[in-house]
Amino acid sequence: MARQKSIHDKLTELAGNFWWSWEPEVTNLFRSIDPTLWSQLAHNPVLLLDHYPPDLLEERCRELVLHTSNNRAYRRWRQYMEQRDTWGDTHAGILGHRPVAYFSAEFGVHESLPIYSGGLGVLAGDHLKSASDLGIPLVGVGLFYDEGYFSQHVDPTGWQQELYTEVDTAKLPLRGVRGKDGKPIVVSVETRSGKIFARVRHVAVGRVNLYLLDTDIPDNKDEDRHLTARLYGGDQRTRIRQEIMLGIGGVRALMALGIRPNVIHMNEGHSAFAPLEVIAGRMQEDGLGFDEALRETASSCVFTTHTPVPAGHDRFDSALIDEHVGPLADRLGLDHNGLLGLGRVDPQNHEESFCMTVLAFKLSRRANAVSSLHGVVSRRMWASLWPWRSEEEIPIGHITNGVHVPSWLSAQMRAIYDRVLPADWFQRTGEPEVWSGFETVTPGELWETHESLKNRLINYARRRLVEQARRRGESDRRLAELSEVLTPRALLIGFARRFAPYKRADLLARDLDRLRKIIEDADRPVQFLFAGKAHPADDSGKRIVQRVFQLASEAPFKGRLVFLEDYDINLGRHLVQGVDVWLNNPRRPLEASGTSGQKVVLNGGLNCSILDGWWAEAFDGSNGFAIGSGQTHVDANVQDQRDADHLYEVLTQEVIPLFYNRDADDLPQKWISRMKRAVRTLGWRFNADRMVMDYVRQTYVPAAGGLSCDMHGLR
Ligand SMILES: *Cc1c(COP(=O)(O)O)cnc(C)c1O
Repeated sequence: MARQKSIHDKLTELAGNFWWSWEPEVTNLFRSIDPTLWSQLAHNPVLLLDHYPPDLLEERCRELVLHTSNNRAYRRWRQYMEQRDTWGDTHAGILGHRPVAYFSAEFGVHESLPIYSGGLGVLAGDHLKSASDLGIPLVGVGLFYDEGYFSQHVDPTGWQQELYTEVDTAKLPLRGVRGKDGKPIVVSVETRSGKIFARVRHVAVGRVNLYLLDTDIPDNKDEDRHLTARLYGGDQRTRIRQEIMLGIGGVRALMALGIRPNVIHMNEGHSAFAPLEVIAGRMQEDGLGFDEALRETASSCVFTTHTPVPAGHDRFDSALIDEHVGPLADRLGLDHNGLLGLGRVDPQNHEESFCMTVLAFKLSRRANAVSSLHGVVSRRMWASLWPWRSEEEIPIGHITNGVHVPSWLSAQMRAIYDRVLPADWFQRTGEPEVWSGFETVTPGELWETHESLKNRLINYARRRLVEQARRRGESDRRLAELSEVLTPRALLIGFARRFAPYKRADLLARDLDRLRKIIEDADRPVQFLFAGKAHPADDSGKRIVQRVFQLASEAPFKGRLVFLEDYDINLGRHLVQGVDVWLNNPRRPLEASGTSGQKVVLNGGLNCSILDGWWAEAFDGSNGFAIGSGQTHVDANVQDQRDADHLYEVLTQEVIPLFYNRDADDLPQKWISRMKRAVRTLGWRFNADRMVMDYVRQTYVPAAGGLSCDMHGLR
């Protein structure tokens, strides 16, 4: 008879699947074993269990009476993993045992697995989680960066320092993948200058398997062992080598695993070599010619574009392409120009460099942008690929991004939802009716919940500010000051995102006099919390970090405007759960979608944003605030000045007065109505379940069924 599973066995199994991270019950279980250690270990249950050998753990759980919750958590996990009759069983049956293969250069699943840099990765992580919840047959394919993306420190002058630390793979729920013969699976990609090898690692994200390629193995030359060390590190040559490993190596890894995907979904153009490898396989196995194999492959490929600026798209010169894709082109029977033409808008134009986005469009028959406005921008930007069509007929649709509700929703707000929404709301987050029940929550209760979350955020921010200042060697006086910054009484506005210049983190600082008046108002004080990393190679982004950092250390802003280092999923979770207002002021139309504001909505915060990305289709006049009315200007400087004016205007005329308009019980009734309206009108639309359902219905199912569509003729 099989030995009964011990507590340690069960917790180890739970820690081995990131499902725990979006199940508050399981997260709480890990936390309750040792709350201090849990927070010191950055919420990593594998590390936590390392500290507790089986006997000690058993004893600890007995002391704390955790047996029942442990057994329940384990049972729920088994139920989740074995569940039948999911939404996917009903709506994605056609995929059968041949899943969707979702390719992405980054995945933001949890803060302990630092293989994401920002929105693109977090979106990919949320996509996997919702696909798991909905029961969609889907696997993720990506790269394993053992130094990840950097941690951010800021030196005493405000200049960003990047810290790379090697992830200890033994401390993560990573498994080496073995083939039928029991040997580790190793894939290789040949280039004109030798082969690159990678092993395959596995991460369980609920029911979804994520496969990550890792080149740090002895088979490789030194240069290539470090190839996948860092996300977005290195030069163009590193970049293309990473991308052939992701695309070509990724398809080979799936083959080696015995996975024959029905559909290939490219999340951004980094993985656009993948379909080429599939085409080569079809030519070889089915004896098809290149054109026919391309037609058939493209009909099962889906491409999501994320970048509304031409300069943001990956481009490679012909020498790099030949060195790295030449051997594959030989198998495809393509000559040098035939290959390069696939990455050019005009195949005959020898001046054009090879663009991964163009390649992705040419190799997929379904393409989408990530918000309605981004759809318009993308159709305009890529119209030259279909010169015989009018702009409206350009076959790029849109599926607006959404966020994975259980990952971003605070436990306190979840408790309210559990009470006022239908019992099965969790399985039906994409339905508007489900959210209408939110109207019935009492204002006092909602406000109290929000205030407690805000308090939690302020305490957390103070702790982190003190830690960071101590590391910089700041004085005891300054540390004492920082331990008291921010007050729960004052309006708290948060701004956290990548410090890419178009996001204009310093827009607020364009007119320091006006900012000072806003911040110093004794009756209606306002405070700001900033966070965000600049790309390591982006000095203008770093100057913006520095500007914000310096403001934060100067009177009169000191204490009322703070900068928190090292924005990541963990800090993000705290911020989106505790702010009153989430500020977003990108230079329209450069924000393809944005998703952080959607996380804020779920937790009862209000967005104050430029009408760009998702907000352009979300704002209805009373579910948040708009900065300006969607204007743009050919001169960026003029646009910035106008947007700054509109920002000060909306803050002083709408946001601040509404927040401080209190009734006899000190409740901001009108503000609370807006919070409710935001949840009710936005919750059902901007979540990842709805997004993944849209992908299934609009792209995966038709692509798997080989249904014809609108993009034929591209080549
Ligand atoms: C959600 C999230 C993002 C994306 O948010 P944007 O609105 O696109 O800026 C980036 N980084 C982290 C850590 C996030 O959690």
